[in-house]
Amino acid sequence: MKHLIRNIFEEEGYVFATKASDIAKDAGFLNPARLASNENPKGPSFKAMECAKKSLEDLNRYPDENAKKLVQALRDYHGDYRIVTGVGMDGVIENTIRTLVEAGDKVCVSTPTFSFYGIAIAAQGGVVSNIRRTDDFTVDCDSFIKGCKGAKLAFLCSPNNPTGTVTKVSDIEYILKNIDCILFLDNAYVDFCDTDYKELVKKYDNLIIGRTMSKAFGLAGMRVGYAFVPEWYEEYYHRAQTPFALNSVAIEAASGALLDKEYFESYKSHVEEWRRRFSLESGFLVYPSGANFVMMDVSPLKSDDAVLQLAKRGVIVRSCASFPTLNDSFIRVSVGESWENELFLKAIKELKALKEI
Ligand SMILES: *Cc1c(COP(=O)(O)O)cnc(C)c1O
Repeated sequence: MKHLIRNIFEEEGYVFATKASDIAKDAGFLNPARLASNENPKGPSFKAMECAKKSLEDLNRYPDENAKKLVQALRDYHGDYRIVTGVGMDGVIENTIRTLVEAGDKVCVSTPTFSFYGIAIAAQGGVVSNIRRTDDFTVDCDSFIKGCKGAKLAFLCSPNNPTGTVTKVSDIEYILKNIDCILFLDNAYVDFCDTDYKELVKKYDNLIIGRTMSKAFGLAGMRVGYAFVPEWYEEYYHRAQTPFALNSVAIEAASGALLDKEYFESYKSHVEEWRRRFSLESGFLVYPSGANFVMMDVSPLKSDDAVLQLAKRGVIVRSCASFPTLNDSFIRVSVGESWENELFLKAIKELKALKEI
């Protein structure tokens, strides 16, 4: 019956970091340093857990169809914006494509970047057009604008996953003024840098800004994402969305997490400190990052080999070999708890020494 599966799903899908965990386990590390998925290592906020627990009593009821309570909590947090929600930002990305893209439509992606855009575009029958960043991974605005000709939608990630690169607000504004399509600006990591783009959404009706509760707010397991959208777009997004997309526990947990400002502030300064130490102490070239991870060039080692060597030393990081258009000498390392980061620095220095023999 397999011949009935659509061609695009015969290729490998999203690449997870499970193999490295198995290697670490085989090497005797039952509790390895988990630095592959950009998660908040501090556990969920207490307020989020309290709200989630309380919500269990109403599980016999369907949740509110547009997660109104969460939208209100987000407005209280950010200000008066039009906000839509999704099952993770991945859900927002998927539903945005579903809302806008017909089979055969051109959709641009600023690469190298998060691979899920390409997977989701193809799943909807869209045609992916990659627009390369420069050699230092900044966005060349004019080539991005040129590449967007004839497209319906374009994805740009800032701070970018996996490179960490932050694009200036003025560059995003320049792009918005000069493209005819909709720009989906992925801000999954924006809480970790000092740049904020959300005012732009009030000025430009072709901008959607994706955000997530998975990274800074420590709710990766809850699957809550959202977006600031132009007013005209909100209604159509809802028409395209699965009914009752967000579950009741997720709505409550996320609303609670937003009230917990101290939780986030201490995490942010921890991230800033360790980003600095990773770039000063690893011995390899580390790219400037505005996120809770850094990307480093481990050449002459290959990414997959470095991941394997680190896993044997009890540290799980992400190989960047599967990111389209990126060569195979990069790894991405999340900031974890202090003991995890120390273990990583120790292991990467060993690799550096091996390399120099
Ligand atoms: C993690 C991530 C997301 C998705 O986050 P969700 O867990 O689905 O909310 C989206 N974009 C980028 C760049 C990410 O790294």
